[in-house]
Amino acid sequence: MQTENVIIIGSGPAGLTAALYAARANLNPLVISGNQIGGQIAITNEVENFPGFDSILGPELTDKMKAQAEKFGARFEIDEITEVDFTRGSPFQLKAYGNAYEAKAVIIATGASARRLGIPGEDAFIGRGVSYCATCDGFFFRNKDVLVIGGGDSALQEGIFLTKYANRVRVVHRRDSLRAGDLLQARAQSNEKIQFVWDTVLDSIEGNGKVEAVKARNLKTGETATWQTDGVFVFIGHFPNSQLFRGGLAMDEQGFLIVDKSMQTSVPGVFAAGEIMDPIYKQAISSAGHGCQAAISVERYLESLHDKELSAR
Ligand code: NAP
Repeated sequence: MQTENVIIIGSGPAGLTAALYAARANLNPLVISGNQIGGQIAITNEVENFPGFDSILGPELTDKMKAQAEKFGARFEIDEITEVDFTRGSPFQLKAYGNAYEAKAVIIATGASARRLGIPGEDAFIGRGVSYCATCDGFFFRNKDVLVIGGGDSALQEGIFLTKYANRVRVVHRRDSLRAGDLLQARAQSNEKIQFVWDTVLDSIEGNGKVEAVKARNLKTGETATWQTDGVFVFIGHFPNSQLFRGGLAMDEQGFLIVDKSMQTSVPGVFAAGEIMDPIYKQAISSAGHGCQAAISVERYLESLHDKELSAR
């Protein structure tokens, strides 16, 4: 088995930027991309806050970042890491569905996944009216009625996107004020297809083969109601994809990996970047910045390994 200099797990903005920097440092990095290159940004419609781009589609930004990393020698494998062994130090052993790998250093950039409501009917209707991605599924709701759950930037951004297709988009929020930024709030509030439903949560999602209705409850009055609808889009935040590293790497109570200033995890030689270690900022650009930092730290770590080998001779 070939020992890689560095394996980057994940291919969102953090992983792709780490790949670019590691490639430019002649480390010949290997990116194990997961099933979907680009991570969350690849299923985002418009990105308007990535410096240098007035507005760019998420998949286009992903393609550009990947091509730039490949231009300098980064390699990509579409596979998913299923097992890691960090206990014996560098070189580290990794297993994926398709292969086994060994690497002197690892950058974990596995990002975060959409949180679920955890109510009856949610799981059963995924792909049949329940969705976590407006860009992926919005097209199926032409001239239909949809609900968007959440009050953050994602809920409003994706809700606005859904008005391209749906007749009516009801944003259902558990409080009476939004967490989303002012610009998105103003845009959503001036959109004629968007209505806000305050202080309300869903208790269940119902239908026959596909979503047809929900049971909603007002948290202030306790009043319940059944609403007819065709779709439920859930945007209530994300959780870090760190299950694989439980027990092996230090993480906080929410599962975010703990890193030092050089982006190194609790295991020397294993670094982390992006939403896997960032419970606060969660932006494509901040994740890209972490990826850059992690790759530079890997370069220094590999130099120190090399120095140790030389002095041991
Ligand atoms: P978020 O900011 O964490 O917002 C999650 C929303 O879901 C909140 O309004 C929250 O309500 C609500 N919520 C959480 N759990 C819930 C539950 N069990 N039932 C009902 N509602 C629930 O998540 P996000 O909107 O995905 O944004 C994540 C990060 O990405 C943020 O930093 C955001 O700024 C960024 N982002 C930026 C843009 C942009 O700049 N254009 C676009 C998308 C995302 P409460 O408000 O009551 O807590």
